[in-house]
Amino acid sequence: MAKINAHYLKLEAGYLFPEIARRTREFQAKNPDAKLMRLGIGNTTEPLTPAIVAGLHAGVDKLADVKTYTGYGDEQGFVELREALRTRYAGYGAELAADEIFVSDGAKPDSANIQSIFGVDNVVAVQDPAYPVYVDSNVIGGRTGKGEKGTYPGLVYMRCDESNGFFPDIPKQKVDIIYLCSPNNPTGAVATHEQLRGFVEYALKHKAVIIFDSAYAAYISDPTLPRSIFEIEGAKKCCIELNSFSKEAGFTGVRLGWTIVPKACVCEDGAEGELNRLWLRRQTTMFNGASNIVQYGGLAALSEAGQKECQALVAYYMVNARAIREGLQAIGLECFGGVNAPYVWLKTPGGLTSWAFFDKLLTECHVVGTPGSGFGPGGEGYFRLSSFGHHEDVRKAVESIKTRLKL
Ligand SMILES: *Cc1c(COP(=O)(O)O)cnc(C)c1O
Repeated sequence: MAKINAHYLKLEAGYLFPEIARRTREFQAKNPDAKLMRLGIGNTTEPLTPAIVAGLHAGVDKLADVKTYTGYGDEQGFVELREALRTRYAGYGAELAADEIFVSDGAKPDSANIQSIFGVDNVVAVQDPAYPVYVDSNVIGGRTGKGEKGTYPGLVYMRCDESNGFFPDIPKQKVDIIYLCSPNNPTGAVATHEQLRGFVEYALKHKAVIIFDSAYAAYISDPTLPRSIFEIEGAKKCCIELNSFSKEAGFTGVRLGWTIVPKACVCEDGAEGELNRLWLRRQTTMFNGASNIVQYGGLAALSEAGQKECQALVAYYMVNARAIREGLQAIGLECFGGVNAPYVWLKTPGGLTSWAFFDKLLTECHVVGTPGSGFGPGGEGYFRLSSFGHHEDVRKAVESIKTRLKL
């Protein structure tokens, strides 16, 4: 008799986005003339840029010609692409080898799959609030009890709030695997070198491994802030980093990312090179490499012309971030993030719950956002607004909040 993976039953229902959709639909049905404005979803809206489009087209042309056709490629990704990424990291002061870089179809799948190379008895720590994939993948991996009211027994929740600048304090207990995301989704907070150094020191001391998600690194404009955890001394011994072309180059629908597993990265029962070998084994067994067309697009994104265009794309969204932040501040709302990250994290006024504020923003301003409580208990009382959108749409939404929100 076949049996299901019962760990899936421990997951709470995917509540956040379906519930946003339900409430939005209900409001629209009752108010058919209301024009809804969406600042809710972390999805890119601007088209691919010319150098990248040319790279993708050239990739298609290569496959269309018998002389340049390729089928399955290196599962770790094009060597040229990994070399280009290696050069980027060298610019951060991190010397990596090409076989420490694994090209993939995105940082979300990698962040979900990476837990499979670790034993089931590891204690996992996550930021609270956090990108939900870190939690859910570890629930499926069997490292937690059944979820209740947004928390899972067995996980260590590292509170991120105003008192610590939305970056967690070093855990007081011994934990084995630590997920960190900077620039952060949902809070928009960016860790400093000193903050990351604290975690790296903890990980080295306890033989813990940090899984560092830097999907929004391209949104950092402050040159003093780290774009990679490998800027921190000793990080190669205890860190894995995930990143992606999704937010940097608008590849959310194109799909291309990478994960770095340094050979020096060790854990309690695995010598140097073991984690790297296990991730290679996992990827070669369960994944057959990223699309070769898309990898040509990725190479173009990393070219000089491509990087200029990516910077302009990021700057476009950051104009929105600024408009949202300044608009909220102008009416006295307290908000965080939105400076080196595309998310603005606002404190709900008058102590409203995240969902009460969602309803208020929807009914009074016709703006759809994301309740902070959907990212973990630490998000209660906060609300996420996203800068991904066309300027004109974001401008209208901000104007509506400024003029119609009753405070
Ligand atoms: C958008 C996002 C990613 C990127 O996921 P892809 O699968 O590469 O599109 C990764 N981590 C976080 C926190 C994100 O918000």
